[in-house]
Amino acid sequence: MRTAEIKRRFLAHFEANGHTVVPSLPLPFDDPNLLFVVAGMAQFVPYFTGQQTPPYTRATSVQKCIRTPDIDEVGKTTRHATFFQMNGNFSFGDYFKEGAIKLAWELSTKSQAEGGFGLDGDRIWPTVYVDDDEAVDIWHRVIGIPHERIVRRGKEDNTWDMGIPGPAGPCSELFYDRGPEYGPEGGPAVDEDRFMEYWNLVFMQYERGQATGPHKGDYDILGDLPNKNIDTGMGLERIASILQGVDNLYEIDETRPVLDRAAELTGRQYGAKSGHAASQSHPDDVRLRVVADHVRSGLMLISDGVVPSNEGRGYVLRRILRRAIRAMRLLGYEDPTLPELLPVARDCMAPSYPEVASDFGRISTYAYAEEDAFRHTLRAGTTILDTAVAETRQAGGTTLSGDKAFQLHDTYGFPIELTLEMAADAGLSVDEDGFRRLMREQQERAQKDAKAKKQGLADTSVWRSVLERGESRFTGYQEVMRESTVRALVGADGVLDAAGEGDEVELVLDATPFYAEGGGQQPDLGRITINAAGHEAELEVIDVQAPVPGVIAHKVKIVRGEVRPGDAALALVDVGRRASVSRSHSATHLLHAALRRTLGEQAAQAGSLNAPGRLRFDFHNPAAVAPSVLADVEDEINEVLLHDLEVHAFVTNQEEAKRLGAIAMFGEKYGERVRIVEIGDYSRELCGGTHVARSSVIGMVKLLSESSIGSGVRRVEALVGLDAFRYLAREHVLVQQLAGDFKAQPEQLPERIAATLDRLRAAEKELERLRAAAVLASAGTLADGAAQVGTVRLVAAEAPGGVGGNDLRALALDVRARLPHGDPAVVLLASPGEKGVNFVAAVNEAGQSAGLAAGDVVKAFAPALGARGGGKADLAQGAGGDAAKLSDAFAAVRAHLAERG
Ligand code: ATP
Ligand code: MG
Repeated sequence: MRTAEIKRRFLAHFEANGHTVVPSLPLPFDDPNLLFVVAGMAQFVPYFTGQQTPPYTRATSVQKCIRTPDIDEVGKTTRHATFFQMNGNFSFGDYFKEGAIKLAWELSTKSQAEGGFGLDGDRIWPTVYVDDDEAVDIWHRVIGIPHERIVRRGKEDNTWDMGIPGPAGPCSELFYDRGPEYGPEGGPAVDEDRFMEYWNLVFMQYERGQATGPHKGDYDILGDLPNKNIDTGMGLERIASILQGVDNLYEIDETRPVLDRAAELTGRQYGAKSGHAASQSHPDDVRLRVVADHVRSGLMLISDGVVPSNEGRGYVLRRILRRAIRAMRLLGYEDPTLPELLPVARDCMAPSYPEVASDFGRISTYAYAEEDAFRHTLRAGTTILDTAVAETRQAGGTTLSGDKAFQLHDTYGFPIELTLEMAADAGLSVDEDGFRRLMREQQERAQKDAKAKKQGLADTSVWRSVLERGESRFTGYQEVMRESTVRALVGADGVLDAAGEGDEVELVLDATPFYAEGGGQQPDLGRITINAAGHEAELEVIDVQAPVPGVIAHKVKIVRGEVRPGDAALALVDVGRRASVSRSHSATHLLHAALRRTLGEQAAQAGSLNAPGRLRFDFHNPAAVAPSVLADVEDEINEVLLHDLEVHAFVTNQEEAKRLGAIAMFGEKYGERVRIVEIGDYSRELCGGTHVARSSVIGMVKLLSESSIGSGVRRVEALVGLDAFRYLAREHVLVQQLAGDFKAQPEQLPERIAATLDRLRAAEKELERLRAAAVLASAGTLADGAAQVGTVRLVAAEAPGGVGGNDLRALALDVRARLPHGDPAVVLLASPGEKGVNFVAAVNEAGQSAGLAAGDVVKAFAPALGARGGGKADLAQGAGGDAAKLSDAFAAVRAHLAERG
């Protein structure tokens, strides 16, 4: 069964059982602790933690995932990919253990003819948490699995939590016995390749507390969750490897063609030297699997908007692509490899992800450029390694230091295996322990960083305690100024009794007109003044957030005075900023409505930013929006502004909102009571933001750009109000200026500029030709300056600076032709340039007969310069080094010839 069909059946099974099908998030994930989505539950976290109310009680998805920790497992086990797809079903306070187990069992074992996967139920081994008698009972009594095949395991294997206080619980995993050829008997506890985990069912039933120790499961259980949830994950590739009867997930239909092409290019016969079990794999086969996996992961990552770089997500992508290229080199293939393999990966993935084909131009540009860069790095790193090897030898050592190996790794991206191998070629060993120590130190630094970030982000317990004192009421729809009372002050270490001048703290009021950042709308800024018995204070509001629902936290800087809980406060919103942000927000609704009318319903919002004077709007669309279409959208919006539509907001229930056809955004939280914002009859959305009163107040909307930010997600940026007008006015001045400079009417400018550029290009070409001619013209003078070294005529001279390799070669050959043919002659020309010296040596036939070789001349010349080069007997060349050492280098050549002659 093809992978795409497995995916379809999975979603169909759960849809038929009342689940809403939800699309995958893109791979990049908006959380400083996690670079990528690692599980299907990622997009449902706010529902599990109770921060948001889910719009449904059952959902199902096939989520794209990347797990970087698994990178070192790839190819060595049968079941770890870097990119994989996780099929999941989720219940939010609806069915629990029995429902989840039954649904999983039914799909696993229902015959293929009836739409199931047709697995043999006698080969399925469930594991459960050691104390979870309830789950054991369901597996045994309801499903009918004998006790011998139900395995109880400890916390490490069978509990789940998010690593921080919040929901947690036991899990139950389904393992499939692939048969004796894959490993020993005894169940999952004995061999996880033969007994392969394909589905994990998580039963979220507790609220866990702070960590109490270093191990997984070291925490107190605070109590039962009010709503018990289900979160499951079935590895699509793993079930595919079972259903396709292949040994591992690299051999399924979505990766095998890449593997085969890699085998063909490298001339290897995949699988010829390996057994079925992963432990019996030949290293070449492991490498081919790495190639197949990594090329696909690279494709999917770039498709979702990641580009290679030296940090964060980009670095993971870079590492994955370079590992693939490196594996191909170790298999003996040295030519550019991605142009051969990436199109194969594309063809494998396009049936499920059409964007990898439609966007392949962009994807391949990044991938191929990365391979070029790596090839360059390999060359540069090789020079460093050669120098280090020479230094080590000179010092009489036989071991390359861990420092050097680490530098090669860290700066040049040299994998340690590459350093080991190349050092071995030169007869040296490498201080691997030293290298690993440095690597460890670096990792520890990185982990500390990550931990520090995590704590800043995740600990919401202090906010929950503030919330217990009551919700803070938002009054900013009706007013921008309010008298209120300070309810709490929060600092870095928790709740405070007071704060003084110069402090930056979070302040919570009973009621506030300040809008907390949310729904894409930027927060209100402004001032709060405190006037209490005995003290006063002046506070500047620099940010407003809702750290948990029901709490509005003003980040304030205390400009003057002192503040305490219970103080009377006057909150004053910066009205200009509020008005400007509201204009952007209303404009965003109009843009959304206009895009939907023009492009169709699929152009739904994926994200937005409403800031003073500008907006950003992300929406779903399979392809770029043509400039002419965008122009129409822009025109329509500006026309709607002029209709001076009334903006009307009201609160109603979900039912009524649906009936009115209000647009709801997936990922936003909606309770039973929802707020609707209407702009005349033109737009109607669920929205908690602030808006203008009438559309004409927006003034003007100018769309600036449209671009891709991930697979099928486009971004439009726009200016609003006065900022839009000023932008256009500036452009107008610019065009006037250009028209003046070119002495043309504005409409004639494009033509004029194109013509000028053409002339410029022609002039540059001509200049280049003249320069080359001038260089060649110096041949006569150079030949006249020949010196006699023993029996050899030698022209060793500096040519004009900045002459490229081709011109220099032509010049050297011309000079050689001008020297008497009967006598041995050597020409050596060097041209200093910005990136070092270019040099060429040529030896005539008489010279070659006398045993001279251009390659040897270059070998005598280059080291003295600090450069590299080589070639044949008649012609050789090289580049690099330091022009200041030219005279030494020429002297080295004269010495070389004197010795020969
Ligand atoms: P394992 O112990 O085999 O690494 P896991 O415990 O890390 O698996 P979960 O976190 O429970 O896996 O993920 C749920 C499901 O996702 C697994 O049952 C498996 O089918 C799949 N899965 C997990 N990691 C990978 C991976 N690297 N490649 C492919 N599928 C995976
Ligand atoms: Mg794992």
